[in-house]
Amino acid sequence: MSPLSRRRRLFLKAGAMAAAAGLLAGRTTPASASASTVTWKNWSDSAQCTARALVAPADEAAIAALLRASGGAVRCVGAGHSFTPLVPTGGTILSLDRLAGLQSHDKAAMSATLHGGTRLSQVSRQLDGAGLALRNLPDIDMQSLAGAISTATHGTGAALPALHADVIAMRIVSPQGDVIDWQQERHADQMAAARVSLGSLGIITRATMRVVAAHNLRRKVWLKPVEEMLQLAPELARTHRHFEFYYLPFTGYAAAITHDAYAGSDIQMPASQDEDMLRDLRQLRDWLGKFPQLRRWSAARLIDADLTEHATNRSFRLLSNVRPTRFNETECHVPREAGIACVRDVIRTLERRNEVFFPLEFRFVKADDAWLSPFYQRDSCSIAVHAAHGEAYDYLTSEIGPVFRKHGGRPHWGKLHNFSSAELAALYPRWKDFQALRQQMDPHGRMLNPHLRALFGVPA
Ligand SMILES: Cc1cc2nc3c(=O)[nH]c(=O)nc-3n(C[C@H](O)[C@H](O)[C@H](O)COP(=O)(O)OP(=O)(O)OC[C@H]3O[C@@H](n4cnc5c(N)ncnc54)[C@H](O)[C@@H]3O)c2cc1C
Repeated sequence: MSPLSRRRRLFLKAGAMAAAAGLLAGRTTPASASASTVTWKNWSDSAQCTARALVAPADEAAIAALLRASGGAVRCVGAGHSFTPLVPTGGTILSLDRLAGLQSHDKAAMSATLHGGTRLSQVSRQLDGAGLALRNLPDIDMQSLAGAISTATHGTGAALPALHADVIAMRIVSPQGDVIDWQQERHADQMAAARVSLGSLGIITRATMRVVAAHNLRRKVWLKPVEEMLQLAPELARTHRHFEFYYLPFTGYAAAITHDAYAGSDIQMPASQDEDMLRDLRQLRDWLGKFPQLRRWSAARLIDADLTEHATNRSFRLLSNVRPTRFNETECHVPREAGIACVRDVIRTLERRNEVFFPLEFRFVKADDAWLSPFYQRDSCSIAVHAAHGEAYDYLTSEIGPVFRKHGGRPHWGKLHNFSSAELAALYPRWKDFQALRQQMDPHGRMLNPHLRALFGVPA
């Protein structure tokens, strides 16, 4: 999502609106365990399983030994922050929580090697300590590095690609327990496949990332009527390093957020009021959901349209945020030129449902060359729609999915979707090449689970 990250309180009734907020960070630890099995679930409760074991080996040798010793199904877990059932297995869940941290960095080459289990928050803090930073970040930094790159996790920026595009080398423990090193110059095809591989080629234990010098950013947040925002969005994306907007359903308003290079060193970081804003939007829905006209009328009077927020800080402290309130989410990446038409259609479709209140997020992502990257050879706009945790979310796929399809969308691998294997094959020019390499790496399909078998068209 992430909606609410960078927005300020938009309504005037400070503190008056009460609502329940879920509080739970993602976990890779088991939800419960018995002597012989362990139950696991993801951050949003949309995916769960009973696995034979959840193991967290201490080093690569232990991972290799585990894969050599057993023949059963193995699925890797990072932070469990994918909404799709990528992790669930009846076999073994393998966590890299103990293989975390910055391994080395090279300031001359502007690269850094990190263990696969490193959470993005730790990646940023350790790189910052070395005077370095990732080029871009997603809305939160709870994810593991390997999990994030494996699903093509991205931030926003018309000229900035997703995280995996900056991976220049990788170490993978194969399903047979062999330790393999791939580098961009010598293994171009393998790298193009492994950058976004949904945990299907092996266990990523290290990734070498292209990095930039540590830097400060300046954030600006402001509101606009949604029609004006849709007109301005392409220009804002062209003229700002990072631009995105959030549409606030049933209000007629959108919040623009820009982040640009900031040469100064003073830190200005107002406390986030995102949770207040979300509570207000929910409260308005609870009170007036059955009367959409009245809801819009009230929102237009409650919103402080002149509100502007400024912040300056280290890039990673501004780009990623925390999300205490849980939700479920779908996201598709459409060709850049289809972005505005698609989001108009999405808003129209979404507002047929009076229960909707979570902001919709619209971002820009640059093209790259990973075979299963949703940004494969096309600059894209990303449109994300959320439903509150505990509320129905089927419509994210059944009603918003067809709108995404109409505009040529490729789904985020970690966010809810129901694209079939045949649809995906048609959307990805190197689909067959990926499947051939996957089959070669894992001939017995031990890295697959039911979700991946369905996506890849591999019978059980
Ligand atoms: C609150 C929230 C905000 C989000 N914001 C964004 C956002 O701004 N942008 C965006 O693009 N996405 C976003 N996402 C989605 C999230 O970034 C992805 O789903 C990401 O994959 C989650 O990382 P993880 O470490 O939790 O991986 P998991 O969900 O645990 O796993 C994801 C995949 O990676 C594989 N994997 C994990 N570790 C390894 C390994 N060591 N080797 C091989 N395969 C591995 C798993 O098998 C699985 O297939 C968000 C999700 C949430 C819940």
